[in-house]
Amino acid sequence: MNVTHKSQSPATMPAGVKDDFPILTKKTNEPPLAYLDNAATTQRPREVIDAIVSFYENSNANVGRSVHSLSMIAGDIYEDSRRQVADFINAPESENVVFTRSATESLNFVAMGFGNAHLSPRDEVLVTELEHHSNILPWKELCARTGAVLRVVPVDQTGAINIETVGSLIGPRTKIIAVAHVSNMLGALSPVKEIVKLGHTVGARVVVDGAQAVAHLKVDVQELGADFYCFSAHKMYGPMGIGVLYGTRQCLNEMTPPLVGGGIARDVGFDGRPTQYLQVPHRLEAGTPNIAGAAGLAAAVCYMRDIGLDVIERHDNALVRLTMDGLRDIPGIILYSPHGGPKGVVSFNIEGIHPYDIGNHLNSCGVAVRTGVHCAVPMADRLGAVGTVRASFGVYNTDEDVNRLIEGVRGVRPGTWSKQHPVDRFLKVAH
Ligand code: PMP
Repeated sequence: MNVTHKSQSPATMPAGVKDDFPILTKKTNEPPLAYLDNAATTQRPREVIDAIVSFYENSNANVGRSVHSLSMIAGDIYEDSRRQVADFINAPESENVVFTRSATESLNFVAMGFGNAHLSPRDEVLVTELEHHSNILPWKELCARTGAVLRVVPVDQTGAINIETVGSLIGPRTKIIAVAHVSNMLGALSPVKEIVKLGHTVGARVVVDGAQAVAHLKVDVQELGADFYCFSAHKMYGPMGIGVLYGTRQCLNEMTPPLVGGGIARDVGFDGRPTQYLQVPHRLEAGTPNIAGAAGLAAAVCYMRDIGLDVIERHDNALVRLTMDGLRDIPGIILYSPHGGPKGVVSFNIEGIHPYDIGNHLNSCGVAVRTGVHCAVPMADRLGAVGTVRASFGVYNTDEDVNRLIEGVRGVRPGTWSKQHPVDRFLKVAH
């Protein structure tokens, strides 16, 4: 890995980080791109792209199936990635890390592989109102399948979860609690440690959706005490198509394989003998895995570690503050501001102007943001908004990107979107 401009723990983001990202330095972007849609997906540094290309050019083979050298090399790359990821989130062992396609798949795997086997009618699953649909729908469907009851922790307009409310909704029938570490819509940080403690008093398993946290905070799964922790590589400078399901050894062992197929069993027969599955994590990874993706994810982990999570967090906080300070004075601005400041995102609206009109205008200024409900309709409903505009930050963003966002927002005028798409229709079509 060619990391030349970084030191272990500098006070601020090192200069030149943007140059690591080929897509951000293209001379053809006119105006230059201010990419503030990192909560949808980040861009990838050269190291990550090179790791993927290098796998296909030098090491491409399947893993865990053949004895030839190339297969061994591919196997080493894959298992080394698992170790890097385990180390990154402070998992006790690399066996705690299951590779999936995405955070969405990881959450579905827990619902199918753990939930199906452990829930009975009238058991309860608890989610919060600020969740991404990927951390709502697997539980809704699980409850529909098993006869369990889905209970919802209300949040306030800042996305704050009241721990006493959580306590009042937990009881002996609570079997699973699913909560986002950081809300992708508002950047609100959830009191995960306290929720885990409460959940464990009644024997519930706590599933943390870390998709919006893992690129912004130092995640320590042991300190959090989470039973499961899920995230995607593509929101942390890694490739699309690979995600992580962390689980404690006990919880992973209690899962039935959510997918079955090649690479997960040592004995299969037609004579009625039981299928003998491999140990975790392998028995939860049916089929050919995304080995190139794992190589890219390991490169992303190294990239972030070289910068330092403490530096990344300070950089995020500084950009968030600058954005909020700049937007605050704009006439009609509605800023959604979680207590303690949002983590890595700023969500806002302008009174009387549709978020899509704001997004369109910003696009014409070379500023990329996300507009809409951010796959979190219940939270949009809680805000009473048809959606929001969300600026979200990454390691390469600069004060100049923020200034261009603010200048762009100052220039917004009511546009055409809301006329074409009346509010009630909009809610049904835009996701
Ligand atoms: N949870 C949260 C909090 C997210 O931000 C996202 C992605 N926006 C997801 C889950 C789903 O991630 P993916 O689409 O990569 O599976």
